[in-house]
Amino acid sequence: MLSIRHWRLQRRHRRDSDVAVSKWLPAHWALWSTPSMVMGYVLAVDALALAVVGASFIGLDVHTYDWMRFAALVIGSALHVEAGREIERIRSVASEGSTYVSLKSMWMFAGALILPPPLAIAVIAISYVHSWARLRRSPPHRGFFSAATVVLAAAVGLMCLRSINPDHHPGFSGGFIGLVAVTAATLAYWLINFALVVGAVLLSNPDTTARKALGQLSDQLIAAGALGLGISTAALLLYQPWLATVLLVTVLGLQRALLVGQFQFAARTDPNTGLANTAFWHEMAAKELERAQNNNVALGILYLDLDHFKIVNDTHGHLAGDQVLKAIASELKHEVRTDDLVGRLGGEEFAILLPNTDVNDTLLTAERIRHRIGGLVIPVTAAAGNTTVDGITCSIGAATYPASGQSLDILLMAADTATYAAKEAGRNQVVTAPSRTPGQLS
Ligand code: GH3
Ligand code: MG
Ligand code: MG
Repeated sequence: MLSIRHWRLQRRHRRDSDVAVSKWLPAHWALWSTPSMVMGYVLAVDALALAVVGASFIGLDVHTYDWMRFAALVIGSALHVEAGREIERIRSVASEGSTYVSLKSMWMFAGALILPPPLAIAVIAISYVHSWARLRRSPPHRGFFSAATVVLAAAVGLMCLRSINPDHHPGFSGGFIGLVAVTAATLAYWLINFALVVGAVLLSNPDTTARKALGQLSDQLIAAGALGLGISTAALLLYQPWLATVLLVTVLGLQRALLVGQFQFAARTDPNTGLANTAFWHEMAAKELERAQNNNVALGILYLDLDHFKIVNDTHGHLAGDQVLKAIASELKHEVRTDDLVGRLGGEEFAILLPNTDVNDTLLTAERIRHRIGGLVIPVTAAAGNTTVDGITCSIGAATYPASGQSLDILLMAADTATYAAKEAGRNQVVTAPSRTPGQLS
């Protein structure tokens, strides 16, 4: 019996790590196998960018100070890529299928504002080649396309700047008109870059929702921050070049703080249901148990496995199955208190952590959840069209600290075994783990 329990626990962990690995793998976007619309779009953007590169040499006049600014931007960009390498690699893979924004674009934007166009384009090219060589997460033509969108954005931004501010390039005119020129250039740069990338995402993933293609608001705030920093870098390089080093140090510090937060959130969440993932749920369970031990209070743990879920998939298809799982996850979250933590342990297995909850209340909560799930009517998109799924039941195993055990391992094992017992006893029921300790806390 012990070996079966062990096997069930190990199986959960193994399955979960498999999912994690496959999610992080890069999707290969082979240029020649994408639909011709996408290919035509990408090649048109690339060709337009190359035409801009050719045109940028017209009337070229490069001074020593241009080379020095160029060198400063290339060094800044290189240090930025190196410092944020690990975390950017994970972010770029995690944002597969939607837009991806990075603070490092500040160096390219600064170049677009103050360098002669061929040098500005060289900063973009060097930055992309460097990132690609170090991160190597996407096929080269995708990086080429991204760089092409930045070249076009830079060209339009520069045109705006020069048309409002014709006599000052490289430099900004003072006063309000300088602000207007820089703002117009920034908006044009952002809009062109964003529109070209979103266009490619929508064309290559027709199933993507517009919301996903547009990316997260937090990403757009990073983009806005990157552009603002680009303007500051440009101004410093024009008027106080040595102070640009202060900006570099500040940016590297901010980037870590900003991205680590984003990454932590992604690393804790199951992407399909928005629930805590296994690793985070276990981490929290360990912390809550420690708190319960220190404060001498009870703690409830529920393990929930949907009954015969395979039949839902077999009848309505996997997509409908996923929709049912999402709906159930949402119901679970709404059935418990805000301090309780619902996690997804595996495919159709969930765990719920109930701080400050004794044996009776743990059992009552489990029964409430079982009833709520049993009464659900969930609209789904099945292979045969829109329909509803109802009559879903679940088996729940409940364990409580300190009644069912003192350590987390024992408690988890007790909840798992109780779930197994609920299945054996005919499913659609709650089984409480046997009491091991005489004392009960409230
Ligand atoms: P029971 O638990 O009552 O013994 O039967 P079951 O059919 O639910 O069996 P089990 O708990 O072993 O369930 C695993 C099934 O759940 C296999 C698979 O069809 C389905 N499943 C697991 N993960 C997912 C998922 O992410 N999406 C979908 N749609 N189905 C999943
Ligand atoms: Mg299962
Ligand atoms: Mg099941």
